[in-house]
Amino acid sequence: MHDTYRHKGLRKKLVDEVRSKGIRDESVLEAMNRVPRHLFMDSGFVHFAYRDQAFPIGAGQTISQPYTVAFQTELLQVRKHDKVLEIGTGSGYQAAILVEMGAKVYTIERQKELFLKTQSLLPAMGYKPRFFYGDGYEGLPAFAPFDRILITAASREIPPKLLEQLKTGGRMVLPLGGEGSQVMTVVVKTGEEEYEKEEHGYFVFVPLLKGKSQDKL
Ligand code: SAH
Repeated sequence: MHDTYRHKGLRKKLVDEVRSKGIRDESVLEAMNRVPRHLFMDSGFVHFAYRDQAFPIGAGQTISQPYTVAFQTELLQVRKHDKVLEIGTGSGYQAAILVEMGAKVYTIERQKELFLKTQSLLPAMGYKPRFFYGDGYEGLPAFAPFDRILITAASREIPPKLLEQLKTGGRMVLPLGGEGSQVMTVVVKTGEEEYEKEEHGYFVFVPLLKGKSQDKL
């Protein structure tokens, strides 16, 4: 698992590109500068790691575009020691960014293949979020409430159980909408039964699917 000067140089360029596209939160950009994104790709594709593009990671899923990861993370307004729930572990790249920012991260993936792969990859790189195999729609009632909830797949609704598991005063960031494109939405929980919604432009995500995958692993 090498991180060379060349990778570091490419990464700095990527961070500059993401900054030039409008990301202002230096704590997000710093985290992005530290996480070796090429280690999240299969070895034949490492040269794609430092392009500002989404990329397939197997099981029909993708590692989100760096700009999108930065945008969602900036909207989340993560503070050190925040308890953060991520839905859609995927490659684990977003989880690593959150761990770098000092958050206590809980991450759920419904595809067993990805769950198993990421659960061994991330700790080998020094990132230790808590991994869960299951349906993110259900959240993690045993560990609730959360300061922040980040959904990294397209959802047609604000999942009610996740809203319940968000602290009052907490923030949830999710791409809201069906196939095609979704509106990046911030939900701020203003009271036990109340929330406010902000909208932040259009993005394209893979869908949030109900239930666990049927992989026989
Ligand atoms: N955060 C990821 C990007 C993931 S793409 C990264 O940094 O690489 C979206 C992920 O959400 C996919 O891995 C998909 O399998 C997962 N997913 C979709 N529906 C889900 C659900 N209901 N619960 C948990 N994970 C889900």
